[in-house]
Amino acid sequence: MFRNALKTGAAFAIVAFAALASAQDYPTKPITIVVPFAAGGPTDTVARLVAQSMGETLKQTVIVENAGGAGGTIGANKVAKAKPDGYTLLLHHIGHSTAPALYRTLPYNALNDFEPIGLVTDVPMTIVSKKDFPPKDMKELIAYVKANKDKVTYANAGIGSASHLCGMLFMSAIQTDMTTVPYKGTAPAMNDLLGGQVDFMCDQTTNTTGQIKSGKVKVYAVTTPKRVPSLPDVPTMQESGLANFDVAIWHGLYAPKGTPKPVIDKLTGALQTALKDSKVKARFAELGTEPVSTDKATPDALGKHVKAQVELWSPIIKKAGVYAD
Ligand code: ASP
Repeated sequence: MFRNALKTGAAFAIVAFAALASAQDYPTKPITIVVPFAAGGPTDTVARLVAQSMGETLKQTVIVENAGGAGGTIGANKVAKAKPDGYTLLLHHIGHSTAPALYRTLPYNALNDFEPIGLVTDVPMTIVSKKDFPPKDMKELIAYVKANKDKVTYANAGIGSASHLCGMLFMSAIQTDMTTVPYKGTAPAMNDLLGGQVDFMCDQTTNTTGQIKSGKVKVYAVTTPKRVPSLPDVPTMQESGLANFDVAIWHGLYAPKGTPKPVIDKLTGALQTALKDSKVKARFAELGTEPVSTDKATPDALGKHVKAQVELWSPIIKKAGVYAD
């Protein structure tokens, strides 16, 4: 009996030692960052910029894998169920905090099934439309949507996406419902906007800046209270008469729950280095955003932020009565 206990104790010690040793060697193979939206969209763009720089620091390839659908919940679930060894991560946005209120049955727990690594960036959104959409400015857009609410179409990346949230706030501000068309991300939504198959959408500047600057889409407003330096001529929603309209899309990096602390520490360090990387900063600035400060790119700051955001959005969403199964 005593002998068996000794044997079991020794086995545990070996397993614990092996786990610690492998955490110290980490990473010994490529790391995958799951983006819960389509390739080529705004979350994907943020992930790829950060992944490239993190890979240089960690001396390993950091691959981005797109697992879009159901407003980001399919990709988040995939990471929640992945092995907690630091080789599968999730780069998600504000939708991670709205999904618990929006989905009646979520197959994972947004707070308990993840180890936060750090916040990444806060991205303004823009209201954009197909090029030949009749309204010229936000005032005309509101009047047009109200007058044509049965035929106007609004593209989004599914219930729980940032574009869904922004659209929901817009509909509630102008007290008008409209038809929404869901996609697996706003990259395919943008393709349909360019092709004229949908009328308008609200999307991060990390996806819309290029199309706005080349005149391929019409822009009505930015969703932050301040104008965006890379789009200085675009008015804010508040300037356009929508008092208190304020949405920016924060992004965070997570690992599955149970990922060893030494691994999380290495990932946090690599994330912080990426956010100070001049190439990342310059590209972020061109796309209308900037990296968060180092004190926010930490597990503690992201953990607190997700919790506070779940508490902020849950009553708003419950009041709006929007649900997905
Ligand atoms: N911008 C999208 C959203 O609305 C997501 C994406 O495609 O990155 O959430």
